Amino acid sequence: MIYTLDAIISQMNCKHCIMHDAAQEIYELAYDSRKIRNAERSLFFALKHVRDGHTFIADAYKQGVRAFVVSREDLPVERYPQASFFWVADVLLALQQLARYHRDKFNRPVIGITGSNGKTIVKEWLTQLLQEDKKVYQSPKSYNSQLGVALSLWDLSDDYDCAIIEAGISLPDEMENLETMIRPDIGIMTNIGAAHAEGFASKARKIAEKMKLFKHAKDVICPSRYGFEAYLPEKTRMFTFGEGEQDDVKVLHVEERQDGSSSIQVVYQQEIATFTVPFVDKASIENVLTCLTTLLFLGYSLDSILHRLGRLRPLEMRLQLKTGRNNCSIIDDTYSNDLASLQIALDFLRQQQQHKNKTLILSAMEGLDDKLQTKLLGILQQQNLSRIIFVGDTLQYLADKLPMPSLFFASTEELLHNLPHISIANESILIKGSRRFHLEDVSKLLVAKSHETVLEINLSALEHNLKAYRSMLPASVKLMVMVKAFSYGSGSYEVANLLQFNKVDYLTVAFADEGVELRQHGIDLPIMVLSPDEPVFESLLTFNLEPEIYSFRILKALIVFLAARKQKDFPIHIKIDTGMHRLGFLPADVDELVNVLAAAPEIKVKTVFSHLVAAGNEQHTEFTQQQITSFTQSVERLEAGLGYPVIRHIANTSGITNWSSAYMEMVRLGIGLYGVDMEGKMALEKVSELKTTITQIKELPAGATVGYDRKGVLHRPSRIATVKIGYADGYSRRYGEGVGEMAINGQKVKTVGSICMDMCMLDVTDIVAHELDEVIVFPDLIDDAKRIDTIPYELLVNIASRVKRIYFYG
Ligand SMILES: *Cc1c(COP(=O)(O)O)cnc(C)c1O
Repeated sequence: MIYTLDAIISQMNCKHCIMHDAAQEIYELAYDSRKIRNAERSLFFALKHVRDGHTFIADAYKQGVRAFVVSREDLPVERYPQASFFWVADVLLALQQLARYHRDKFNRPVIGITGSNGKTIVKEWLTQLLQEDKKVYQSPKSYNSQLGVALSLWDLSDDYDCAIIEAGISLPDEMENLETMIRPDIGIMTNIGAAHAEGFASKARKIAEKMKLFKHAKDVICPSRYGFEAYLPEKTRMFTFGEGEQDDVKVLHVEERQDGSSSIQVVYQQEIATFTVPFVDKASIENVLTCLTTLLFLGYSLDSILHRLGRLRPLEMRLQLKTGRNNCSIIDDTYSNDLASLQIALDFLRQQQQHKNKTLILSAMEGLDDKLQTKLLGILQQQNLSRIIFVGDTLQYLADKLPMPSLFFASTEELLHNLPHISIANESILIKGSRRFHLEDVSKLLVAKSHETVLEINLSALEHNLKAYRSMLPASVKLMVMVKAFSYGSGSYEVANLLQFNKVDYLTVAFADEGVELRQHGIDLPIMVLSPDEPVFESLLTFNLEPEIYSFRILKALIVFLAARKQKDFPIHIKIDTGMHRLGFLPADVDELVNVLAAAPEIKVKTVFSHLVAAGNEQHTEFTQQQITSFTQSVERLEAGLGYPVIRHIANTSGITNWSSAYMEMVRLGIGLYGVDMEGKMALEKVSELKTTITQIKELPAGATVGYDRKGVLHRPSRIATVKIGYADGYSRRYGEGVGEMAINGQKVKTVGSICMDMCMLDVTDIVAHELDEVIVFPDLIDDAKRIDTIPYELLVNIASRVKRIYFYG
């Protein structure tokens, strides 16, 4: 379905418009000027998302976009003579109206999924299961919000036999709007979690809200154990699984096996069947049962489903960024492949500034008809890739149509066989393939080997947290982000790329070397260096890094250095000490400071800043206020003496949360970005997860001792698990002898004996645990820090560099 501008506009409540070309064809909806693909055929929505989308109209126009949906009246439209403009009251609503209109033209079944957990995995599994005999459209990754759902509906077309759309809500009243867009014919409710976790007053309220998705659905598929029945819309029927007599699919028996699989026995219409799945955790089993029940509901026979279920695998859902051999970055996204998720992955590849060269390894896709083939070609033609390696016969049609070099392999085996002969170095490589091509085998060969303890960093969560803080700030306030100490332990350019892509204003590092590393990996944002000393002045100049100046000694040395190199207006940042008493000029120094600065054309003061010592501590409210006042007064004197305005900043994370009066022209975001909210006021997502594995489990009698110096005395017959993390990884010795708690399969266990250098021991007597199980080292960072009388900052930055970092996105 292709719409003309004319047809589209009649579907939105347009107040007035400038129509340039009513017959212009629209294929794509755009809202982010960094992600425009087919500019001439895009309709740009100026959403007030994180930033005001109206500010990106100029950029989008420059790229060739000629149609805009806007809400602001004061636009300089004369600058865009070839563009059409449509004014609406609410741009997001207009986009949703359009999505709704498009959805209504789709006459095949739409399955809507919601619930607290498991939505995405159930969606992915169902797609996988149904794909054997149907063409299935699924909303990409977690596009489940007000915006995401609208965008994903836009890609529906009659090429598909059915659609599976995920809906997620975080606030009351959101679901009604999603329901009117998705209009599911069949609903799936996965489960319901703890009430506080999602911003609802009570569990009942939460269920009631989620069930609104099914207002017009004929049937809802769900587990019976949560009591969803009481919330069922009037005309909707339920199709359930569970242990009760009234369940449509009755679960007779679930048995966990030693090898990490489970055998499940069910009855459906008097027929009993047993099948095996490669999981033991409750959540995965519930998700499998949801899929099974859905397929039975859709009329598949038990027999035909069982053999399909056996093929399900725990899905590594998210795209991962790993360090590769030969100085490569490997983006591993090897479990699904369709056009929507390919575009998301390509956008992520584009963010990677650390290498100029970019390679795409792409497998064939399921169900590419002529139209989709053309679309894929279009997407690939627009990428700035240095080469593409194709796997699978059906992609041959692309052979001589692409501007970049390409290689073709008929199968993954053939690629693996030839891999040693392909030169792969100093580049970013996106590996994108559907399950059946098991391109993860290629990724394994390209990724550097590791110690088994890893720190997983969720870049989507980081982006979420960035948006959460940004949404608190007025648009005029600039954002400086602290990436010192290896971004609080979570990475260097990997994190900075994301920040640069999200257009923060400044980065700050602790040492010049950290700044140099960022520059060498393509980061071109302004970078402030905290407390530099004379030996690094040369690198500041070479790498365009901007020093914090905190004393007369360092100021004078810098002026001498710059004068010798005939530099003018070198940017510096003045630190005022308003109470931390660490570094900085005291307010009493300001007059003399002005004298020195005024006589030094070598430098230019870009910003002046100070640091709040207790912005999150109510006991010291008065002191914080004094700091702000003293700072403001000092800057006034400084500006008067300098004769030009400077940017002022004093608020760190706690300052952003608690002191809106201290925002001034810029704020400095630190720990909050990394997911730690000391005051519990923000809805942040966890960014870092330190994980290890159980290497060995042994049964020991009462009276035995564990570890050095026999510190861990067992008072009962015990099961003791050895895990591969020790104080050399950053797990403090102070966690020994029961002080530390880790989580295995969702249950907490304590340490036994003292912590060794590379390992430690846990008491797993009371829980289900197996060798090779995953272990979460810090289940609750704030609580874990308290246990050894420290703060989360210290735990994060102490995670040793030998612990491999893995980055997830999406
Ligand atoms: C580290 C640091 C910050 C960030 O502090 P958070 O508490 O992590 O937000 C801000 N300003 C300066 C000068 C810092 O050194």
